[in-house]
Amino acid sequence: MTTAGARQPQAGAGQLLELIRTGQAGTRAELVRLSGFARSTVAQRIEALLRAGLIVSTGGADSTGGRPAETFAFNRTAGVLLGADIGGSHTRIAVTDLGGEVLAEDEADLDVADGPKRVLGWVRRRFTRLLRHVGREPADVHGLGVGVPGPVESGTGRLVSPPIMPDWDGVVVPGWFAGDYAAPVVVDRDVNIMALGELRAGGHDATDMVVVKVGIGLGCGLITGGRIYRGAQGAAGDLGHLHRGGDEPCRCGQTGCLEATAAGWAIRRRLNQHGYEVNTSADIVRLARSGDHRTVRLIRQAGRLIGESLADVVGLFNPAIIVVGGNLAGAREPLLAGIREVVYRRSQLLASRDLRIVPSTLGHRAGTIGAAMLVHDHLYDPHRVSTALA
Ligand SMILES: [Zn+2]
Repeated sequence: MTTAGARQPQAGAGQLLELIRTGQAGTRAELVRLSGFARSTVAQRIEALLRAGLIVSTGGADSTGGRPAETFAFNRTAGVLLGADIGGSHTRIAVTDLGGEVLAEDEADLDVADGPKRVLGWVRRRFTRLLRHVGREPADVHGLGVGVPGPVESGTGRLVSPPIMPDWDGVVVPGWFAGDYAAPVVVDRDVNIMALGELRAGGHDATDMVVVKVGIGLGCGLITGGRIYRGAQGAAGDLGHLHRGGDEPCRCGQTGCLEATAAGWAIRRRLNQHGYEVNTSADIVRLARSGDHRTVRLIRQAGRLIGESLADVVGLFNPAIIVVGGNLAGAREPLLAGIREVVYRRSQLLASRDLRIVPSTLGHRAGTIGAAMLVHDHLYDPHRVSTALA
């Protein structure tokens, strides 16, 4: 004879874990109140979560006179996550704890156009080195998150006709790590992982946001209702190739794209024409910080052009906040000032009245933290946790 609910003995365990790991609840009483489950159900699920090593008991919670309530916390140190932020010309990786806190990181100037063998080969080798550095084994890796600068199928991690990285068309990113780790690999666009990082760890207190990545390339991640908006083909947020007019050739093969006048590669081309030796976005930022007038002027002008496209995005999308990140955001004032100037002037009053336009708070770590959070969300999806415990 089976009783109702016996088929799924841990139903609700995933929701309780979510309440604990997001910091909404720590004690049994809080879990009962927020979940609406019976006390006995909460007690059973806590036992199961403790046995699975997903949570730990952290002792008494208060000292208001009575017996201090036992509190529970997400077991962040039970393993590690690996995050990779593969950009057009620069790649960053990190080992984080299970909550996305960076333990060790590495980076290199790598041109994504050099192909998957060179770029993913570097990522694989450096992951191994970073793990050794933090004293962890491949078996400690619970999941990998990877961001790539092109459209990707979210279910499979396969790249689909990426415009600036032709050698990557059809590449299935998780397959590159299958021999190293028996852990899930989740792949998304670079702008989306950056947006996820800013949403979760940036402290912006908003659920509707646009996160612009201004580097050698240009794109944006859209967060709506606290979730990444990917669109029908995973191609949403392709800000850099919105048509702004003019006949400047773009690297995508079209003319008049925003990138062709406002991306780092367009600024680099202009500076090279004037005899500057500039290769990376870091070179451009260095020139701007040293006060080079031409560079500062080009970046401010790029900010204005980006602002024109963002004003359109604000009109359509009505975000609470625009976060400006990417390597060129390191130039700070000229870029932000250019964007603010145009967005506030062009946006309709209602959409821009309380709109904040701020620099990234995570800086160069936004992508790797976001990549870790991407796989974190996958691993601790409430339904997946309840099913796994059952
Ligand atoms: Zn283009």
